[in-house]
Amino acid sequence: MEYDLIIKGGKVVFANEVKEVDLAIKDGKITAIADSIQSDGVNVIDAAGQYVMPGMIDAHAHLCEPGRTEWEGFVTGTKALAAGGTTSYIDMPLNALPATVDGEALQLKIDTAKGKNYVDYALYGGLVPWNLDNLEELSAGGVVGFKCFMSTCGSDVPNDFKNVDDYSLYMGMKKLAELGKVLLIHAENAPITDHMGQEMVRQGKTTALDYVASRPAFTEVDAVKRALYFGKVTGCKIHFVHISTAEAVEEITKARNEGQDVTVESCPHYFTITANQFAELGPVAKCSPPLRDEVEQEKLWQKLIEGKFDMLTSDHSPCPFEMKYSATNNMFEIWGGITGCQNNVDLMFDEAVLKRNVPVTDFVRMIAANPAQRFNLTNKGELAVDKDADIILVDPTQSYVVKKEELYYRHQHSPYIGRTINCRVTKTFVRGNLVFDVNEGIVGEPIGELVTSNKKLEPVMA
Ligand SMILES: [Zn+2]
Repeated sequence: MEYDLIIKGGKVVFANEVKEVDLAIKDGKITAIADSIQSDGVNVIDAAGQYVMPGMIDAHAHLCEPGRTEWEGFVTGTKALAAGGTTSYIDMPLNALPATVDGEALQLKIDTAKGKNYVDYALYGGLVPWNLDNLEELSAGGVVGFKCFMSTCGSDVPNDFKNVDDYSLYMGMKKLAELGKVLLIHAENAPITDHMGQEMVRQGKTTALDYVASRPAFTEVDAVKRALYFGKVTGCKIHFVHISTAEAVEEITKARNEGQDVTVESCPHYFTITANQFAELGPVAKCSPPLRDEVEQEKLWQKLIEGKFDMLTSDHSPCPFEMKYSATNNMFEIWGGITGCQNNVDLMFDEAVLKRNVPVTDFVRMIAANPAQRFNLTNKGELAVDKDADIILVDPTQSYVVKKEELYYRHQHSPYIGRTINCRVTKTFVRGNLVFDVNEGIVGEPIGELVTSNKKLEPVMA
């Protein structure tokens, strides 16, 4: 048996155990796993002392192309993902222009993405108040899920995204239940957060902590409860994005125990940056739902340790410098979104596995196996024979400081600049191709492919 590559002697992370074995790769697939694989004449990577894990599947990223490539774009965004140990991501239907809310916009995104991605990718469609008749064509076009906002979002720019009202949320859920697709929900109560924000601004209260206070925890919990109820009525599968409070997690766990098909993610920033640290860091750490206080953050950690989170995602939501730093310093006016996808894996491996003893198998379930399963990326998410060789090496002893000049983002701002991380992604392979090496940086061409439901997606719309 001939192989293209053998990864030797690493601590290989499987679904339920970690074993020191060799992995052999041929034609982009894992073809053998054994204690010792004959390696004469084959390219060998010595992984001794390192963890060998499935690459992260980042199920929540905004690469903003087409239409807002000046915010990020496929080339820069996927370089950052590759350098951070992500081998596939799922792109959100916003903040590209047009938003991905009909077949034509989806086709445009598929065409635009071709040849620009360093890692594999899948796409979401959007659910907005005016596209109930377009959900079917998006589904047929290969999106792996749909995203909606219960909080206010969007802009006056033509073809931008917009939040649902209760009617379109209900009708959209009915339709998606028929199509068998998952609805991803940004859950915050729109009228309350809008009005509390307006009232803060009216009173001249525009600091980071004022912004946090305008979106209290109960506004997330309320929206989660309402969405769960709509889900129960319609039978729609739900995935809650970036949940920031333990009480929301409890509601989701309860619904799941009662038989509802619901999953939940959170993001590194909710576990690693508090509201007070946001006040010090400034606009780079603005996001919604907002970062919470120390007590809430600790409760969220407990939920993660108890295994209540299905996924970790980046919610990478980049923008140019000038959208983060306005002359007024009004935190309500500044773009809300954290640039962070290059530090998903290392930051959370450090904080969860190294510092809080979360089993590395649990960690890998959250970054790879669960997102693959939820969004039907069936060739991915696991180190097993016949799966795609989407593999990362993580050195648990290499500590480093995040430096601005080492970030691949189009705009090199991030709340993690200056932070010491006690492990490092040293290599990233996408279908057996080395795309990142810690000493060489990004390697080769953008070989990323569009994937969905166990097959490469051929465009279905002319
Ligand atoms: Zn997002």
